[in-house]
Amino acid sequence: MTREFTCIICPNGCEIQAEINDGVLTSVSGHTCPKGEAYVRQELTDPRRNIATSVLVKDGELPLASVRLTNPIPKDQIFAAMETIRGLSLTAPVKAGDVILKGILGNDSDVIVTKSVLKIS
Ligand code: SF4
Repeated sequence: MTREFTCIICPNGCEIQAEINDGVLTSVSGHTCPKGEAYVRQELTDPRRNIATSVLVKDGELPLASVRLTNPIPKDQIFAAMETIRGLSLTAPVKAGDVILKGILGNDSDVIVTKSVLKIS
């Protein structure tokens, strides 16, 4: 069986064809660097995704601060993680790099601020 993947590791977005026989990956083509094959193997065994979203900020010059995860988490936990993040709120000032939640859903992945928001003056 051939499965198609679009590698999301870098902006090249290589289209990768993976040949899988009896659940075993037998060949990979279409990738232009070794990360593509590693991506396919990860997708077949333990697919993971990152999240970039925003969190409400009280008393800030902006109403929202952008955040992301420090490491990708299992794909099937993305909705639960979004719910958890949606429940967070911050009070300005917040600084890029601030950890606002450690170990989301028990994973080795923290929620960090990616854009600073100053306190409203
Ligand atoms: S295979 Fe390599 S070059 Fe292609 S999208 Fe993945 S990481 Fe980028």
